[in-house]
Amino acid sequence: AVVTRFAPSPTGFLHIGGARTALFNWLYAKSKGGRMLLRIEDTDRERSTDAAVAAIIDGLTWLGLDWDGEPISQFERAERHRQVARDLVAAGKAYLCYCTPAELEAMREKARAEGRPPRYDGTWRDRDPSLAPEGVKPAIRIKAPQDGETIIDDQVQGRVAFPNKDLDDFIILRSDANPTYMHAVVVDDHDMGVTHVIRGDDHLTNAARQKIIYDAMGWAFPVMSHIPLIHGADGAKLSKRHGALGVEAYRAMGYLPAALRNYLVRLGWAHGDSEVLSTEEMIALFELSGIGRSPSRFDFAKLENLNGHYMRVTPDAELLAHIERLLPDLPDGAAIAAKLDDTMRAKLLAALPGLKERAKTLVELVDAAGYLFADRPLPIDEKAALLLDANGRKAVGDLAEKLAVVDDWSAASTEAVVRAYAEAEGLKLGKVAQPLRAALTGRTTSPGIFDVLAVLGRDETIGRLRDAA
Ligand code: GLU
Repeated sequence: AVVTRFAPSPTGFLHIGGARTALFNWLYAKSKGGRMLLRIEDTDRERSTDAAVAAIIDGLTWLGLDWDGEPISQFERAERHRQVARDLVAAGKAYLCYCTPAELEAMREKARAEGRPPRYDGTWRDRDPSLAPEGVKPAIRIKAPQDGETIIDDQVQGRVAFPNKDLDDFIILRSDANPTYMHAVVVDDHDMGVTHVIRGDDHLTNAARQKIIYDAMGWAFPVMSHIPLIHGADGAKLSKRHGALGVEAYRAMGYLPAALRNYLVRLGWAHGDSEVLSTEEMIALFELSGIGRSPSRFDFAKLENLNGHYMRVTPDAELLAHIERLLPDLPDGAAIAAKLDDTMRAKLLAALPGLKERAKTLVELVDAAGYLFADRPLPIDEKAALLLDANGRKAVGDLAEKLAVVDDWSAASTEAVVRAYAEAEGLKLGKVAQPLRAALTGRTTSPGIFDVLAVLGRDETIGRLRDAA
């Protein structure tokens, strides 16, 4: 059975590239009826924090990506990593290296002088361990092959050959008995039964080194897929300005998890030219062969369009739950949340169909819903104020009185009243509807004006019209 894993280092938020990696692993596992595991690579004790672990878990959960079993802490497995390193020494596949920091520095210095990359020169590879100097704690180095090539048959990158002369006898256990990252990843992936590794292509050279450890242990090497990194719209490395943000920042910008999932899957993976894919479709269609080889470019406009689509197709009650989840992230969110009692919730729900037609993000939607929550007298923006000139004020004043006697309050009944008034006055409907909009929403754009009347209800409508008149 397929086993994938997502293995973030908890040194910050779940960033957008990590989220895509998690999504690909999740989709592959789901599409094959397999499992995705979560491993927290917390061996760097200085940089790993509990807050980052919580942020990663929160980000994955919000994105709707779940994992099988409990998250695994890499740090807690250090004893097992040490054991495997010692087993490799016992098997003659690794050895103790007693080089001092000064000797290693001299090696690096020599390489620099000769203009080649620094490599361990194999001093202790074949040296008699009984020559070990007193008082020097040894590191453990893998005995890497010295000739030929290490081949990675990557599902995305194809067959990549690394000349073994470039891969030296790297350290697997440091002299302070801490395993190196390279070693810990291999032992963990093996012990967790990982069959498929899907990760950023910045790990491709690591794969060659990791393969040396697999081979030394006689373990099966997982299927590798190294996905190209995400670039900015201009082709440069992804920066904050380009969208290199944590997943929580996308939530705060008002994107729906379904939209972000759809956007992220298309960022580096394709199935024909389908752009809009439900999660079920993604699971059904996901194949490693669909992952492209060139870096994908982050495109906010595309994400916005997808988000607009998902807002329109999401059932209103669900959309309302997303809005409530978003409020703590908005500057005026607390004020809105405080007013969101059952009555206001019902009003917002009734207004959603009109609001979601016009908004690309939940932030825009909440902004456009501001008129619902406003206290009287309603703040009127500058452009809207221009519509409330003498004529405009007369129209809204007259309408307040005509509407006050409507007893079956609805979009249709109020529309009939407003149309009849416009006709009687010899005015185009727009001449009446625009001041009405300004008086009721404080803006020049809003959802359909009669829907606004219906949602606000009679008392609030009449009150606002009288205020404006
Ligand atoms: N912890 C590594 C990272 O966050 C991932 C290592 C891996 O997937 O093998 O980049």
